[in-house]
Amino acid sequence: MTPTTALKHYFGYDDFKDGQKQVIELVLAHQNTLALLPTGGGKSLCYQIPALLSPDLTLVISPLISLMKDQVDSLLQNGISAGLLNSSQSFAETKAVLQKARRHELKLLYIAPERLENQFFLELLEDLPVSLVAVDEAHCISQWGHDFRPSYLKLPLLLAQLKQAPTVIALTATATPQVAHDIKTLLQIPTTNEVKTSFARPNLTFKLIKGTNFEKYLLAYLKENPHESGIIYAATRKKVEQLGNLLQKCGLNAGIYHAGLSETVRKQNQEDFLYDRTPIMVATNAFGMGIDKSNVRFVIHAQVPGSLEAYYQEAGRAGRDGVASEAILFYKEADLRVQRFFIDNSEADEAHRERDYLKLQSLSRYANTEECLQRFLVQYFGQDCPPCQKCTNCTDTRAKQDITKEAQMIMSCIIRMRAHFGKKIVAQVLAGSKAKRILELGFDQLSTYGIMHKKATEIESLIDFLTASGYLETTNGQYPTLRVAKRGGEVLRGAEQVFMRQEVVAKKVVMIDNEL
Ligand code: ADP
Repeated sequence: MTPTTALKHYFGYDDFKDGQKQVIELVLAHQNTLALLPTGGGKSLCYQIPALLSPDLTLVISPLISLMKDQVDSLLQNGISAGLLNSSQSFAETKAVLQKARRHELKLLYIAPERLENQFFLELLEDLPVSLVAVDEAHCISQWGHDFRPSYLKLPLLLAQLKQAPTVIALTATATPQVAHDIKTLLQIPTTNEVKTSFARPNLTFKLIKGTNFEKYLLAYLKENPHESGIIYAATRKKVEQLGNLLQKCGLNAGIYHAGLSETVRKQNQEDFLYDRTPIMVATNAFGMGIDKSNVRFVIHAQVPGSLEAYYQEAGRAGRDGVASEAILFYKEADLRVQRFFIDNSEADEAHRERDYLKLQSLSRYANTEECLQRFLVQYFGQDCPPCQKCTNCTDTRAKQDITKEAQMIMSCIIRMRAHFGKKIVAQVLAGSKAKRILELGFDQLSTYGIMHKKATEIESLIDFLTASGYLETTNGQYPTLRVAKRGGEVLRGAEQVFMRQEVVAKKVVMIDNEL
């Protein structure tokens, strides 16, 4: 059987999706491969078809128990023998599954990554007739990934332990160049064996909303899109509960999902959403991984998530069927504090926290760029695409104003403050603040003190814009300090001018409030 006949025979599809065939051919040629395909790109078939065409067993490492169970059930429905091993099973159950695998009665065996932490368990796998190991959600192996799972680091051990050296296929939808590099190094995938399809999602319209009341905006949006299915993400359980209550009070059919609900309730709410009994889901990021609902027409983030990777993955749950859909981020700088709180209180080590702060900064750059939003996201993942012509930045028709002079003032102030300070203090100095700390540090003596005749908060917005546009840079860490980037140097020399759309915030508020 060829890959194409297997595709038809087992799954009923006529054509491969972008990238699938190339991945499958590499794997069948026993090449370790990294598949970077978007959410909904059909990653599962990339290892399921090679598994079906091989006489041996394929091990699949997958991070979520519920997801694994769904996959195994749907394989069984398609007449494909599959099993799973997770830590909730008894030893007798584990043994029975392993026996089946040894007798070549299974094609695919799904394993929860936590199981790899147990040396005894690893030894049980040693003599299985494995020829392919598939690592799903492979970004979990990298500390730079947005969902690092230490148990994924045991994978090289598993690979070394297996009697017969298997082929490895790693799959993910969200990998920055750094994450892709980590995956390839740890799983010994040659650089050339990377199959990447475009990260652009042409059917999605990205919207960035700032400076308005979120609840009003949300209710107006839902009123305008009454019969559509969508997900509203919030950062905390409390906010999820509050928004869920609000929508229900307004007579909208919305369910909620977060890790604090009982498993029964979560399952019920998830199914109600999947089967369109409840079209709207308000949830924390606990909801979504592996959810294959094709007709999600909008994903609205009430608050920023922790990284652009997380944002793109969550937003990408809209429009999996290719139909026009919207990904809306409601941005309020204060919400970054929620994420900072999560980072400060995480159990991660110092280095990990530094990386998390850095990732959070990328969100603030996204929120302050004037470039095409789709392009910004795609470039973040190391690719490029033309401007989408439909995001809130591409369709912004307001005239651009020359802010070269303001930019120069900000930059010279940063230089005079020896690039040791963050945005708040720089803005205060430029605004001529009489705050105790400014006076104590003697900054009222600087020639740039009070030269901007603007409020400190307005200057902060300008600084955000200059950072997002690459004129300024910030250091990593909890208290990032500002410095002038190379591009900023050009502005200081007078070799480049800076343009910005004015009154971004104010105009949007007026526009939206008028619509209500
Ligand atoms: P991913 O894991 O990349 O997000 P899935 O493997 O869950 O995506 O596939 C998404 C959907 O696309 C599934 O419903 C799957 O059955 C379907 N699919 C996969 N390959 C094809 C194909 N070649 N033609 C049509 N549909 C496909």
